[in-house]
Amino acid sequence: MHLTHLTCTLCGTRHEANVPQNVSACCGKPLFAHYDLAAAGRTMTKESLRTRAKSLWRYREVLPVRDDTDIVTLGEGFTPLLPAPRLGARHGLRSLLIKDEAQNPTGSFKARGMTTAVSMARQFGLRKLAVPSAGNAAGALAAYAARAGLEAHIFMPRDTPRANVIECEQMGAHVTLIDGLITDCGAEVARRKTAGGWFDVSTLKEPYRVEGKKTLGYELAEQLDWKLPDVILYPTGGGTGLIGMWKAFQEMAQLGWLDAHPGHRPRLFTVQAAGCQPIVRAYQQGDKFAAEHLQAQTKASGLRVPKAIGDFIMLDALRASGGGAIAVTDEEMIASTREFGAAEGVFPAPEGAACYAAMKRLLAEGKIAAHETVVLFNTSTGLKYLECYGG
Ligand SMILES: *Cc1c(COP(=O)(O)O)cnc(C)c1O
Ligand SMILES: [Zn+2]
Repeated sequence: MHLTHLTCTLCGTRHEANVPQNVSACCGKPLFAHYDLAAAGRTMTKESLRTRAKSLWRYREVLPVRDDTDIVTLGEGFTPLLPAPRLGARHGLRSLLIKDEAQNPTGSFKARGMTTAVSMARQFGLRKLAVPSAGNAAGALAAYAARAGLEAHIFMPRDTPRANVIECEQMGAHVTLIDGLITDCGAEVARRKTAGGWFDVSTLKEPYRVEGKKTLGYELAEQLDWKLPDVILYPTGGGTGLIGMWKAFQEMAQLGWLDAHPGHRPRLFTVQAAGCQPIVRAYQQGDKFAAEHLQAQTKASGLRVPKAIGDFIMLDALRASGGGAIAVTDEEMIASTREFGAAEGVFPAPEGAACYAAMKRLLAEGKIAAHETVVLFNTSTGLKYLECYGG
């Protein structure tokens, strides 16, 4: 609403916000949206939020769409932050919480990014959208494009969970399955988009999916009465959610909403799969960018992202927050699913279960203390991954 301009995340150069853009023309890196936060803060206050709709569009002033009529919504966001007392007690944690993103439209948090990206596409008058996806982004694009009356062209690895392929087809998307990984799907989109007249909505290769995902950060703060948690465990693929939350913390600080300790931010931990851990390796090696993880392999399809364009933004956030990066095996994820589900009544995606597996490891290593407030992200429903459980 109060969007003013974009900047290149690598060099800071200013770019126009009123035309469709992908990566920055200067560096080929992600673009970040900027707002007139002083103006936003005049109408969006902690008090005014209390009576707003339980949707991520409650943070309207810091979301990019100009006119409400362009908003494409299916009721996404403001998902519950569920206490997990049994799992917490099992590990001596006083305050363990699950942010249950399975309760979004299409069953995953990819809905957050697609509501903003597709709304902006509508604002710009774009008609045909394309995306490479490990699965859930595809389902979300199919849904929001259908909702907006736009075409969706989707490229997924052939071994993507069946649920993702079926949901895209049933929502009228054009689906192409590729023998390869999400990076190969991305290359295919890049090759065909000009001829097809498609706009590429790859994560962080267009500026607005991250704007929808940043609402995770606003919600955590609001749901914890404007105190941020001590630790966040986030299953990381492209990193949009992690980067979005970090951006939200900075915006909230500028809005004057996080007064207590200016330096205090949650420690962010990236959780990846042992078979695909580019960010974990780069973090451990002290690198600024992450090398591609060759022969990437994991059943947690959302984590099967061997190379991420936002790698340096993630690595900066992990380091600045005092958090870290950790990889868990598929066996640990699958075993943790049952423990998590049986204890708390939430059937998590393997990616969500990975956070729980990682938490156990961090506790054992003394990197999380008993008195801390810890948030696990369940980014999707286990129902989309029946293959992982013998289904
Ligand atoms: C996409 C996805 C992730 C990774 O999210 P990023 O924000 O791209 O890092 C994690 N879990 C699930 C279920 C996903 O679909
Ligand atoms: Zn630049």
